[in-house]
Amino acid sequence: MRISDDRYSRDRQRFDLALRFIQHEARTRTIRIWTGLTDDRIRKLYRSYICDDAGVNPARHRGKSPQQATFFIRTPHMRQETAVLASMCYLLGVMPASHVADAQHTLPGMQRGEALCEAFETYRRLVPAPRISFEHAVYLVTALARGDELRATLCADCNGLIVVDRYATHARRCLACEESRQGRLLLDA
Ligand SMILES: [Zn+2]
Repeated sequence: MRISDDRYSRDRQRFDLALRFIQHEARTRTIRIWTGLTDDRIRKLYRSYICDDAGVNPARHRGKSPQQATFFIRTPHMRQETAVLASMCYLLGVMPASHVADAQHTLPGMQRGEALCEAFETYRRLVPAPRISFEHAVYLVTALARGDELRATLCADCNGLIVVDRYATHARRCLACEESRQGRLLLDA
């Protein structure tokens, strides 16, 4: 009995996580990789979710997942949003302790998937009109874990967490410190 109870609760956990991914408009492939459920079970779950909540209809994204590291750092405001999401991911244990080359395969798992949902939901609550989708969040944690395109580092002035291009060589500051610095420069001129 105990074995089947355990299996039942593990299955239940997988379904709960998959449902959370569906609510965040994750792709089927992403749900499969992070929960270990088959495409068939995900499709059934998706259909039952739609039937249960007639008013709710999360967009289904097909095709390729985001592949652009520059999306996160192209403007000061995107850098700020990315910093909030990345901070949540570090605080809630989504990120591994050190860089992993094979992050696409080693990162996904139930516990980390739950932490990722927690981080993403917190980010959505903190940022007004958030622009980073869940699929982008998956891309971000994978890229940060690999450390080959984007890196998390600390602002040179306030020590707040920021995300930068791995090859950026200039001094790294968060948006607030950059703006107050420019303000001071203008005053000095
Ligand atoms: Zn700063």
